Amino acid sequence: MVQKITVSPREGVALKLKRGQLLKVIDLEGGQVADLLAYRSSDYKEILSTGATIDNNGSLYIGKGDYLFSNRYNPLLLIVEDTVGAHDLLHPPCSPEMYRAQYVIEGEHANCFTSFISVLNKYGLEEKDVVTPFNIFMNTRINVDGRVEVKTPLSKAGDYIVLQAETDLLVAVTACSVEESACNTYGCTAIGLEII
Ligand SMILES: [Zn+2]
Repeated sequence: MVQKITVSPREGVALKLKRGQLLKVIDLEGGQVADLLAYRSSDYKEILSTGATIDNNGSLYIGKGDYLFSNRYNPLLLIVEDTVGAHDLLHPPCSPEMYRAQYVIEGEHANCFTSFISVLNKYGLEEKDVVTPFNIFMNTRINVDGRVEVKTPLSKAGDYIVLQAETDLLVAVTACSVEESACNTYGCTAIGLEII
């Protein structure tokens, strides 16, 4: 049985995964980033940690066969399929402050931080619970001198990653709102989800 959900451009969704269920995250049109946060269902204080994930995998890059770990160093999700192989563990979700600092945008701008808050609010989660996400399809490359470059995603239409829940989880996914850089190929499109 497959439940299909579409994350509209610049928006987010929250969903529950049971241990063993698979979440397929699909770049429907290509070149679009999806930010993902995860919380243990039995204790929302245990949360996806990109720092622990980098630490435990010994790498800034992860792909098929790698686990995403929590702030308590427990595995939350396993990458069981990945047709892209280029994702990000470094960048915080885009936010009003980020648009102000980097693009001098003072007015309203859709952003992943607000998208996360709006879908996680009903679970009692708030601003302090929104941490650095696993930024799926975000093509961040680290140069030998330490410079960080965000390039156009390698994902083409229909490319996907499949994550297996290692425990019962609350998961939130956004379709990233950045139109001003290569991050989402200078435009925002939808993300497809399948719960399997
Ligand atoms: Zn974003």
